[in-house]
Amino acid sequence: MLREFTCIMCPQGCDISVEFEGATITSITGNKCAKGEAYVTQEIENPMRNIATSALVDGGDLPLASVRLTDVIPKDRIFDVMAEIRTVELSAPVHEGDIAIHDVLGLGVDVIVTKDVDAA
Ligand code: SF4
Repeated sequence: MLREFTCIMCPQGCDISVEFEGATITSITGNKCAKGEAYVTQEIENPMRNIATSALVDGGDLPLASVRLTDVIPKDRIFDVMAEIRTVELSAPVHEGDIAIHDVLGLGVDVIVTKDVDAA
């Protein structure tokens, strides 16, 4: 199987081609440095992503507060974490940097507030 990537590890944005079978990479071409190889290897073997979304706020001047994760998580856990975030209702006021969920689903990352919501 062949997948094409644009490397996001630096502004050069190399186009990298990866041939693989299952999770076994057989060829990587187009990268100008080892960072590109590491990037596409992770994308094939264990892709990681951050999430930026919103959480409900009770008693706030806005109904939702924007939140994100403190670090990336495996891409295949995104829907689980989104479902967990939907179960949370924060109490106003909330402040940027507040922890909405500590160690979400035991993944070793927190869900934190990224924008203040004042009490109504
Ligand atoms: S492969 Fe290396 S040079 Fe090319 S975009 Fe990635 S980090 Fe930059």
